[in-house]
Amino acid sequence: MAYISVPEIQRTLPQRYRLVGLKCKKCGYLHFPARKVCKNCGAVEEFEEVKLSGRGKVYSYTVIEQGATVYEHTEEAAVGGAFSVALVELEEGVRVMGQITECDPYSVRVGMEVEAVLRRMYEQDIVRYSFKFRPIRFQGRAERP
Ligand SMILES: [Zn+2]
Repeated sequence: MAYISVPEIQRTLPQRYRLVGLKCKKCGYLHFPARKVCKNCGAVEEFEEVKLSGRGKVYSYTVIEQGATVYEHTEEAAVGGAFSVALVELEEGVRVMGQITECDPYSVRVGMEVEAVLRRMYEQDIVRYSFKFRPIRFQGRAERP
């Protein structure tokens, strides 16, 4: 089981809560999650923070059935059964892995437009939150029950 300590969680808070990428000041390459060395030009720690829109399209996805889940998703898999995890390509061009929420996991399709929302994941010392993605088409619809 992967244990993620509280300090580790706090260190990655900007990524987990704000969806912030790091843009290389030398070549402009955008990184998410954050790293110390530019993947493109090798510059070391020369980044500026860029707030990502959280909007993008499903690049690829998979449906995870009950029993095949990683620890972070155990609670909800027990409650909700199968769920979908997708690699989402954001408007800014970076790809982010996240769970798809607020829709039938089997209805997820490549190219589907989604947006990031902050959701409670599970509790381990403190309540852990992370981003999930929901279909944009759900917005503006009549109230859901
Ligand atoms: Zn660079």
